[in-house]
Amino acid sequence: MSVTATDTHCPYCALQCGMTLTPGIPVVKLEPREFPVNKGGLCAKGFTAADLLDHRDRLLTPLVRKTPGDRTSPLREATWDEALSLITDAIVNSQETYGRDSVGAFGGGGLTNEKAYALGKFVRVALRSASIDYNGRFCMSSAATAANRAFGVDRGLPFPLEDVAEARTVLLVGANPADAMPPSMQYLDTGRAAGAKHIVVDPRRTATANGAHLHLQPLPGTDLALANGMLHIAIREGFVDEAYIAERTTGFEAVKAATNAYWPERVERMTGVPETKIRETVRLLATNGPAMILTARGAEQHSNGTDTAQAWLNLALALGLVGKPYSGYGTITGQGNGQGGREHGQKADQLPGYRKLDDPAARAHVAAVWGIEEDELPKPGLSAYEMLDRLGTDGGVRVLMVLASNIAVSAPHSNRILDRLRALDFLVVSDIFLSETAELADVVLPTAQWAEEEGTMTNLEGRVLRRKRALPPPPDVRTDLEMLTELAERLGRGKFFSSDPRTVFEELRRASAGGIADYSGITYERIENEDGVFWPCPAEDHPGTPRLFADGFPTPSGRATFIKVDHRDPAEMPDKLFPYVLTTGRNMQQYQSGNQTRRVKALAVALPEPRAEIHPDLARRHGIADGDLVELRSRRGAAVLRARLSDGIRPDTVFAPFHWPGANALTNPALDPHSRMPAFKACAVAISSYTEG
Ligand code: SF4
Repeated sequence: MSVTATDTHCPYCALQCGMTLTPGIPVVKLEPREFPVNKGGLCAKGFTAADLLDHRDRLLTPLVRKTPGDRTSPLREATWDEALSLITDAIVNSQETYGRDSVGAFGGGGLTNEKAYALGKFVRVALRSASIDYNGRFCMSSAATAANRAFGVDRGLPFPLEDVAEARTVLLVGANPADAMPPSMQYLDTGRAAGAKHIVVDPRRTATANGAHLHLQPLPGTDLALANGMLHIAIREGFVDEAYIAERTTGFEAVKAATNAYWPERVERMTGVPETKIRETVRLLATNGPAMILTARGAEQHSNGTDTAQAWLNLALALGLVGKPYSGYGTITGQGNGQGGREHGQKADQLPGYRKLDDPAARAHVAAVWGIEEDELPKPGLSAYEMLDRLGTDGGVRVLMVLASNIAVSAPHSNRILDRLRALDFLVVSDIFLSETAELADVVLPTAQWAEEEGTMTNLEGRVLRRKRALPPPPDVRTDLEMLTELAERLGRGKFFSSDPRTVFEELRRASAGGIADYSGITYERIENEDGVFWPCPAEDHPGTPRLFADGFPTPSGRATFIKVDHRDPAEMPDKLFPYVLTTGRNMQQYQSGNQTRRVKALAVALPEPRAEIHPDLARRHGIADGDLVELRSRRGAAVLRARLSDGIRPDTVFAPFHWPGANALTNPALDPHSRMPAFKACAVAISSYTEG
């Protein structure tokens, strides 16, 4: 096999570190590359990513059930023609019997921009169905909704990562980049070496918190009260930026009045964070600038996640941080294309360019680009969990296509989701490995990997990057673009689709033109020559926009909007039966549901199994020693994990990683009313020691 040196990016997280692939044994040699975000660094996941390419578990041919329609019969190898014929028949039969919306798709934040765009278009134009959403709903949706409400736009970081190194104070809320994206820590380390102060809000003393100046450990689900309490202090101490508020914002008076109820002693009681630490944090943010507030999933994955992100946004606006150099509010995206994945139309309520599906002007623009009538476009569909919760029911989706997502492990209340997946009339999964979701499928399609196809990704900074093809996929493996185009052909809509990534990107540019996430000035060549291009970029001679909000906000008034938010208890509180709070999160060695990283030998050796993190006081109460097996139980299910005792976690809280089946058997699918984000980060559990056999 001939392989030439190729500059590309890591297949995993939103940092999208640069790497170079050259011919090697057995497939490619992978080396870190100097690129603006990673500056030559890679984490263990990135360093071992080439192991995925020739992994012995790799899917190399389509699979179908030995007895069609019987998912208890084994999977057997099939031709693409046979597999696609089965899918086409299932789609046609279901839509004739149950209507167009009975066929749907579930996408992922790991898809390239081209594939996310093509999947959204496939569902709306080939299936003419409203039933599509993606796993980013479980990831970024609360911060995205809050940013859209305040700023009129959602771009994870509205500034380049390098600005973090220049900030004198950084407040990280529910974020653990030291484990999630280690190369990004160099920016925090540079700042700290120059005297910057870092504050971490997290119920666990994570690796990130270990290096911080201050660590605040609130009870999970009380971040909103903490943020409102800080704003209360900022107002009382005269720290708010009155001139900024008057010139650049609206709505402050209502927020100011609402913070009256968040006096420091009360907030200390609600959150468990000492008043002295709350006051010190406010003082640093207000007087040791430039300062920034960065949130991540710990703050956002709650049944009040949007309002919680909003509370931190309100604080950033009141202190006059947003739109100033090395300063502001941002959210740290998790998935590789978590940003681009939510811009191009695989979300239930969106069209490309971050347009709204229920906006007549947006519908007219995109319909014209797609060459269809506006009234052919379906209305917005159900959000991710709502769609999954109704699978196989009357009025629900009966034929589901899943791309780049392992919902059997990653969705909340996973026992319920497993039941719903089994209730489907037909399940299709496109993946590189036989994931827990693919094991349930009627048809499994082997798809090309990150190094085997062209495409673009948009990283956590809004920087559009090129993933380049270093080698061809195995002979019987196809790209998702090829698969979608072939299916569209079989459904009589092939003329609307292309399997060529560059052609798809050119159409995406036109579809996004004039939208919030405007890619119309971005070309493959510019991305290569300029180390990526930041959106919005409305013309080929436009430099792109690394920093947003310097001159105003893309709202009707040009001002940012304060929104009054109040604390609500988590949807499920501890009680006698389930006395502790479970919170979930990441380990350094694993990525998402672990479908890829659990198979990488070096990563599996470093961390062979999930560990439940438990405070020694809690462990003592239940007779649990370090390394014991423990059973965690919630109202929805149970999971057995090995205990890791740590005095760095709150004694009333248990942490479990979500990279293996188990943690999401426990989690609560209660949804945030604005973003439809499930409450992954706080539910009530009981714990007991567990004896095998
Ligand atoms: Fe890959 Fe993220 Fe690790 Fe960088 S930090 S090497 S992008 S997993």
